[in-house]
Amino acid sequence: MVGAAIAYELSLNPEFQVTVIDRAEPAQGSTTAALGVAMAVISHKVKGRNWWLRERSLQRYQTLIPELEALIGQPIQHNTQGIVSLCFEASELPRWQSLQAIRQRQGYRLEIWSPEQLRDRAPHLNTDAIAAGIYSPQDFQVSPTELTHALVAGARAKGVTFYCGEAVVGFDVARPTGAAADSLCTAVQTTAQTHPTDVVIMATGLGTLPLTQDLGQPIAIGPVLGQALRLHRDAPLGQPGFQPVVNGNDIHLVPLGNGDYWVGATVEFPPGTTLEEALAMQPKIARLDQVLRAAVAYCPGLAEAEIGDRWFGLRPRPQGQAAPIIQPLTGYSNLWLATGHYRNGVLLAPATALAIRDALANL
Ligand SMILES: Cc1cc2nc3c(=O)[nH]c(=O)nc-3n(C[C@H](O)[C@H](O)[C@H](O)COP(=O)(O)OP(=O)(O)OC[C@H]3O[C@@H](n4cnc5c(N)ncnc54)[C@H](O)[C@@H]3O)c2cc1C
Repeated sequence: MVGAAIAYELSLNPEFQVTVIDRAEPAQGSTTAALGVAMAVISHKVKGRNWWLRERSLQRYQTLIPELEALIGQPIQHNTQGIVSLCFEASELPRWQSLQAIRQRQGYRLEIWSPEQLRDRAPHLNTDAIAAGIYSPQDFQVSPTELTHALVAGARAKGVTFYCGEAVVGFDVARPTGAAADSLCTAVQTTAQTHPTDVVIMATGLGTLPLTQDLGQPIAIGPVLGQALRLHRDAPLGQPGFQPVVNGNDIHLVPLGNGDYWVGATVEFPPGTTLEEALAMQPKIARLDQVLRAAVAYCPGLAEAEIGDRWFGLRPRPQGQAAPIIQPLTGYSNLWLATGHYRNGVLLAPATALAIRDALANL
């Protein structure tokens, strides 16, 4: 998703000739597992890079989805009915009220609903243990795979070349003679060929560590496993005209239409110490059952739903630094990292792409 977003954004500048190399087909990796919930206004990040990236993505998403739909002539599944977050503790209300005031100053809406108001608007939710419902109408959800495929199709239409099924295995590097100068990456080597290059952007998620190790500047990104599942009910839940994403205790209920829902996700840290051990970790079924039970507790109608697919993915989480990593690789003048988006890669992909576009414009 991040690589596709960057490729598309750069393709809009005719000065760039863009090539994407991926060892897999588009929309694999962590992206294939994601639920696509974009929590910007409703997140507690209010300033600095954490908010700035969210706000930039939120704004770009408003134009990006219609722009891509028009370009490729296909709809992209997305839900613009907002996100309802369930507040179970009255003691948390002052924090939400303070966030509401900040968002109002920033030009965004956040509504705090009483349990009665929540029941009226979302009668499928159990309000017994609820102190309030926090409603963020400007946050949204988008299908990560549909959006990634659309970004790839859009980028292709704008002249980007894709080499899928080619793993990057190394780089040609020109070392400077002066001690203070940075090295230059002159080509990317893959399992199939050598691609000469002026600039490299690594949007390689969990593939980042081995590649940066090869360049003598290891960037540690480890996996955090997430499981989710799909449910179906013949009769959709709640009011047909109001189907927001619901978040309760960090568990999302994502309505997909026609009685289909995604529920997730678990957050499971690896037990092993090496990257290989971590990447080999397997999901614990009991953890997903726990997630489903928690979702049923706040939305009892899910108990009668039929369980469809169950899946898991590995989120790329930076170790020892904040997510995401959008910066030049130390010691190189033409190599950028756009990786380690951990739990927010779908939300932050557009802002990441814009940050890379801006950085390249200043080279
Ligand atoms: C269960 C689950 C739910 C999630 N829900 C959400 C959500 O609701 N909202 C949200 O914003 N985020 C969510 N996420 C997080 C999100 O999925 C990630 O942050 C995002 O997908 C990261 O995108 P990416 O493009 O950086 O990584 P990836 O999708 O992993 O892509 C990395 C790409 O790099 C390629 N690559 C790696 N190494 C090499 C190499 N050597 N040569 C060539 N290619 C290489 C891979 O093939 C892959 O295509 C969720 C994640 C999980 C697991």
